[in-house]
Amino acid sequence: MQKRRLGRTNLKVSVIGFGGEWVIPSSVEYACKMYKRALDLGITYFDAARVYGNVEEKLGMALEDVRDKVVIATKTHHLFDPDAARVGLKQSLRKLRTDKVDIVICQHIDHEKTLDQFMGENSALSVLKEARAQGKLDFIGLSGHKPRVLAKAIQTGEFDMILAPFNIINREATEELLPIAKKLDIGVAAMKAFGGPDQRFVQCELAKIVPEKAEFNRILGEGTVRTKRALGYVLEHDVHTVVCGLSHIEDVESAAHVGETFTGLTQKEKAEVRFGELPPSPFCRDCGLCQRCPEGLKVPLILTLDKYFTYYGITDWTKEVYERQAVKVDSCSECAQCEPKCPYNLPIMKMLKHAHERLSKQKPVK
Ligand code: SF4
Ligand code: SF4
Repeated sequence: MQKRRLGRTNLKVSVIGFGGEWVIPSSVEYACKMYKRALDLGITYFDAARVYGNVEEKLGMALEDVRDKVVIATKTHHLFDPDAARVGLKQSLRKLRTDKVDIVICQHIDHEKTLDQFMGENSALSVLKEARAQGKLDFIGLSGHKPRVLAKAIQTGEFDMILAPFNIINREATEELLPIAKKLDIGVAAMKAFGGPDQRFVQCELAKIVPEKAEFNRILGEGTVRTKRALGYVLEHDVHTVVCGLSHIEDVESAAHVGETFTGLTQKEKAEVRFGELPPSPFCRDCGLCQRCPEGLKVPLILTLDKYFTYYGITDWTKEVYERQAVKVDSCSECAQCEPKCPYNLPIMKMLKHAHERLSKQKPVK
């Protein structure tokens, strides 16, 4: 298994990491088997969270004997409740059967206001710093789903690593986040590398509508091809570990195989994934800063669907999702409140009309 240095933490981590969330449904016995198999195959980065049921306990049981050979990153969701964060960390250490966790990741920082508030007083940050000084953890990380917010966060200097969504279809992290992380020597763990029909895609609400598999398979491939393509795409970037959702021993083995054999993408593979490209401008980065629309339009969602439609050719599923929206573009009053809020200066109203024309099974908006 190849290893990379996790930025300024100086931790050497396996390029394939073991995500915690997909272990939730596994029995304790099977989870331990998966963890042991992962360890045999060279996986050394293990992810958990307070909110992942008994995943910390499973991890603690499986890895207690090899604690000094692995990196454990757990998460806290008690961002604005210092007492709960303190108690949570104590519970994490107990369940993980360790007296020190390598990384504690502050979870769900998805809005700039949340970040600003988190950097102020009375947040869990002071608790984590205090715990770090007491030797209960080594590094503080941050996770969220908005690359722009994460890019802003790492520039505060408070965070040693980030856990960010990144995959063939959602590649906005390449624009700003990865270059800044590289410059600042911040550790980068990528999540949702398999983004597609099997896992949460862009927004929770999209996951409720089962995507048309064939459309995604065309882009992402199937079976081991998908594993190789999805992980290879991420590993070709300045990412140090890919935290994979693994729920079967076979998944662990096939992800580990990529981590062992990856030697870089060939020119053909780069062409297949349109490596280095971003969708043609103007395109929405789903940052959410233009919200809320007084008419209730979900602008980021609609423009993201349109990006998938035009750039990736995902035409059936996107229409299906748009069809189910209670408020469509024909409800836009053209109040223009959204456009000045967009940090990318997108002509939102014009883009919405074009999106409606493509996605709607109804008549274009005049
Ligand atoms: S211009 Fe349309 S989409 Fe933008 S805020 Fe106004 S009503 Fe909403
Ligand atoms: S339209 Fe602009 S502000 Fe709104 S989500 Fe997209 S990029 Fe962000």
